[in-house]
Amino acid sequence: MPETAVSAAKTRIFHELDFDKPGKQIGYLRVPQSRDGGAWSTIEIPIAVVNGSQGPGVLFTGGVHGDEYEAQIAISRLARGLDPASVCGRIIMLPAVDLPAALAGRRMCPIDGRDFNRCLPGDPRGSFCQMLAHFIDSAILPQVQVLADVHAAGNSMEAALSSTMHYVDDAAIVRKTRELAEAFAAPYNVMFWGVDEGGTMAAAAERHGVLAISTELGGYGRVSVEGLRVAQRGLENVLKWMGMIEGKPDTSQRDGSRGTRHMQVRDQNAYVFAPSDGLFEPLHLPGDEVRAGALAGYLHFIEEWARPPLPIEFRGDGHIWMAPGSGRVRKGDVVNVVMREHSAG
Ligand code: CA
Repeated sequence: MPETAVSAAKTRIFHELDFDKPGKQIGYLRVPQSRDGGAWSTIEIPIAVVNGSQGPGVLFTGGVHGDEYEAQIAISRLARGLDPASVCGRIIMLPAVDLPAALAGRRMCPIDGRDFNRCLPGDPRGSFCQMLAHFIDSAILPQVQVLADVHAAGNSMEAALSSTMHYVDDAAIVRKTRELAEAFAAPYNVMFWGVDEGGTMAAAAERHGVLAISTELGGYGRVSVEGLRVAQRGLENVLKWMGMIEGKPDTSQRDGSRGTRHMQVRDQNAYVFAPSDGLFEPLHLPGDEVRAGALAGYLHFIEEWARPPLPIEFRGDGHIWMAPGSGRVRKGDVVNVVMREHSAG
C-alpha cells in the first residue's frame, strides 16, 4: 500500500507488528515521549492484529476516552480469546487508544491535555495525541473496511445504551451503516448531529471510505454491567455479520424485543445546555420519554442559598439519550440530549 508506506515513513511511532503476518500478534505501538528521567522514553499503546484466511479488515477501538471502560475490557477480552484459525480476514484491536487517559481514568489525555477524539487526522510532528491520531489515520484506517469505535458517556453523563452514526450524504452508505448498527444490536442506534465531530475516529473513518459506527454504552465513570454485555456481544456480532467468524448476530434485547431501535438527534435543539454555572438536579433517567417544555431539571445555586433553583426545560420531544451525572455544571455544558424516533428525510 504505497500511501501507507509514505505516511508511515513520516510517523515517529514504531512497533514490531507485521500487519500481514498470519496468526495473532499482541504488542504495542511505541509513541516517543521524552520526559524528565526518560530521554528516550516511549508510551506503549496496546494493539493486537489477528490475521486469518482471506477476508475483510475491521478495526475495533476502545479507550479513546480514558473514563469509558466497557470497551477496554471487551476488546482486550476479544483479542485474548480469538483463534486466528477460525477467523477470515484481519482484525485490528486497540483496547486503550489513549492509554495515559485510560490509566488516569480521565477523558482528556494527561500528557498533552487533548481530547484524542478531536485530534484526527492528526499530525506526525504534533503532540502525543496528534502523533497517535496521525498513525491511526494514515497507517491503520487504510487497512480496514469497517470501524467500531466503542465509547460510553464518560464521567459526566450516562447514555441510553446505543450505537451511533453520523448524518452522511450518501444514501447507500447510510443504509450499509444502519445494517452494521443493526448487527451490533445495541438497544438504540442514534443517527446524530454532534457539537464537534470533524476530528473524531468515526469522521476520520468516513473520510477513508470506512463504514463506521461508534457507541455510547454506559457512563458516570463506571463499568456498566449491561453496557459491557452489549459491547462484547456487539463486537462478535459485527465479526459474524462480516462473515469473519462463524455464526449469526444475536440481536435479542433484554426486554424480549429484537433488533435495534433507530433514533435521531437532528440538530442542536436536541441538546439542553446549562444557562449558568450551578448544581444540576436531573429529573429523568436515560431512555425516559419526555416532551418539549417539560422540566429537564433544576439548576441550584448553593452559594446563594436563598435564591430559588432555576427550572430548565426540554426543547424537543423524544427519549433521553444522554443524562447528566456530574453534579456541578458550567454555563454552556450539556445537561441532557433528547433522541427521537428516526424518520426518513
Ligand atoms: Ca466518549
